[in-house]
Amino acid sequence: MADILDGKALADRIRQKVKKEVSLLQRNGIDVGLGLLLVGDNPASEQYFKTTLGACRKVGITAREFRFPVTVSMNELLNGIHAINRDERIHGLLMLMPLPARINARRVINTLVPEKDIDGLGSISVGRLSADESTIQIIRQEGTNTRNRDILSPAAGSFLPCTPFGVIRLLEHYKVPIKGKHAVIIGKSLAVGKPLSMMFLAKEATVTICHRETRHLGSMTRQADILCSATGKAGLIRGDMVKKGAVVVDVGINMLQDGTMTGDVDFSAVAKKASLITPVPGGVGPVTVAMLLENTVRSAQRAGMLHSSPLRI
Ligand code: NAD
Repeated sequence: MADILDGKALADRIRQKVKKEVSLLQRNGIDVGLGLLLVGDNPASEQYFKTTLGACRKVGITAREFRFPVTVSMNELLNGIHAINRDERIHGLLMLMPLPARINARRVINTLVPEKDIDGLGSISVGRLSADESTIQIIRQEGTNTRNRDILSPAAGSFLPCTPFGVIRLLEHYKVPIKGKHAVIIGKSLAVGKPLSMMFLAKEATVTICHRETRHLGSMTRQADILCSATGKAGLIRGDMVKKGAVVVDVGINMLQDGTMTGDVDFSAVAKKASLITPVPGGVGPVTVAMLLENTVRSAQRAGMLHSSPLRI
């Protein structure tokens, strides 16, 4: 039976560290601010919005809400982003997706300056990840403190997307070897699958990316030392699709008709084969929110380093 990759426990540790860093910044006159932008009233987005507000409150980050009606025009949204870019109280912006179909989401995302793109969705952040410029944040030498390098490196002027960053953190926390392993990722979205594959490549795994048009999915997944599923299809990963001893990370979130939350993985069947597995809920989800808080505080630290004398510890 597999051991659990406990995302909630890791998220608690990350949040405690963030809380200390937030109060250190406060003592130096910097109030850490996260903007939350929501268009319309999509229930899943509302839920994530509320969760993030609560998480900010607990660590002392000031959340600033930007709510727009579903009828908002492109110009109003772009003006809102320009105002956020100029607002020194806001160190990062979380844009809840999806935006209404008539809005050009990529244009809105790319209007945000990379320094505040704490979910790493803009083209500059994506490019820096692909060019291995921002992966310093996931390439840590054992026993060395790379935090200051993270903050000061010009290449670190951008952020890694929170969900895949959280997956890597979770694997690192449980000391799962990545170098030389075969990572199979299901899903190729810009928010999860694609950046996750880049991060595994940066850590020198051999990477296979699968998606809805992939033929013979099981023959791919059975090769995985590390299997990550991010599709939003409940029950997609069955027990017979997993190699004995594999590490299984379930990113999917699916709400069943009875109101329960489940991932993409048939947990009870797969847990009999895997060596380590994430539960849903309590796996990747809490770590994603924690990484969002960590990226926000990192942004405030970078802004503080650029605009003032060194922080007083
Ligand atoms: P998306 O809809 O943008 O992408 C889904 C991907 O899954 C696509 O690349 C698609 O090709 C692939 N796919 C769909 N059906 C498939 C099938 N039958 N076989 C193989 N591949 C298939 O979604 P997303 O934003 O990447 O999110 C994916 C899932 O992860 C969703 O359930 C979402 O709720 C969840 N999610 C969780 C977190 C978290 O913090 N845990 C964060 C973001 C997203």
